[in-house]
Amino acid sequence: MAVTETPTITIPAALLPADGRFCCGPSKVRSEQIDALVAASATIMGTSHRKPAVKNLVGDVRSKLSELFALPDGWEIILGNGGSTMFWDAATFGLVRERSQHLVFGEFSSKFAEACATAPHLGDPSVIKVDPGSHPDPTAEAGIDLYALTHNETSTGVAMELRRPADTDGALVAVDATSAAGGLMWDPAEVDAYYFAPQKCFGSDGGLWLSACSPAALERINEIGSSNRWRPASLDLQIALDNSTQNQTYNTPALATLVMLDAQLDWMLANGSLAGMAGRSATSAEILYSWAESRDWATPFVTNPAHRSNVVGTIDLDDSIDATAVSDILRANGVLDTDSYRKLGRNQLRVGMFPAIDSADVAALTACIDHVVAAL
Ligand SMILES: *Cc1c(COP(=O)(O)O)cnc(C)c1O
Repeated sequence: MAVTETPTITIPAALLPADGRFCCGPSKVRSEQIDALVAASATIMGTSHRKPAVKNLVGDVRSKLSELFALPDGWEIILGNGGSTMFWDAATFGLVRERSQHLVFGEFSSKFAEACATAPHLGDPSVIKVDPGSHPDPTAEAGIDLYALTHNETSTGVAMELRRPADTDGALVAVDATSAAGGLMWDPAEVDAYYFAPQKCFGSDGGLWLSACSPAALERINEIGSSNRWRPASLDLQIALDNSTQNQTYNTPALATLVMLDAQLDWMLANGSLAGMAGRSATSAEILYSWAESRDWATPFVTNPAHRSNVVGTIDLDDSIDATAVSDILRANGVLDTDSYRKLGRNQLRVGMFPAIDSADVAALTACIDHVVAAL
């Protein structure tokens, strides 16, 4: 196969976005979050996580998240180290009683299913799978004690509305909201554990998991926590819960991650809370998808508009245009990380549209893509 070199194309400065970060995680960190880090440089950074300054910070993060999500009484925000991937493992030990049902519609949703399938102490999970580009719906099934949903499948740009399946009394609904939390609406009545990591909508760093837990989820954690099931301490949700309610983590958290998360929560709460943030992402998504529909060489990958994500946009390009070359040229011009998800293997661009990413910059991105495609 002939190797063609990507041509050098300079995008006129007037077309460029003010901020060129469109990564789907880690995502754009607002400069105010870095300012918050500088402000915390002598009072938080380099101080004990067992002392009031850091405990108050953890407490602030927990109460601001409860406010952002408008959590009902009795819910708790719990947190621990290791990111969402670690939460999957923790959930196999501390949230799934015996058997889980998983909706699999991309890379991330497949991973929790895999974790449950390989856990020796759990029964075989039920897996409902569809090809990337849409999502299946959960259905009540005998013997299932946890329904595993994904609010936004980051690898494909599919979002789903969260609904508790009917006739599943006593079962939990656990939602991977890693890329959705803070940018998409949800109703706590439909969910028991809404878990995420702070490096997507919250624009912080990775390495932490957080979960909003309903009274039923807390009861399950306590039930399994007082059973004799073996759990590694670092993945024990009972230990995480006990620490979290004291505004602590079981082991040392990354303090900078918490500072930047807290600063983002201040910005979110001051700008319309969750509805305001979801509105920002919805505006960006409208710009991106309507642009793609108006170009005969671009198409939204997700055919059903109701399944299209407002926080992660996936746009297929005509085979005559090499999407990798487009994202490489964008990168050379400072417009970063528009590559499609590796394993999806499509001729596609993928665009982060998290609340912190300005809609004007998404519009500028579309003009940059137009320029590159015309010049290729
Ligand atoms: C990014 C992502 C993850 C992985 O998060 P980590 O913090 O890296 O473990 C899991 N699920 C979804 C939907 C994601 O977008």
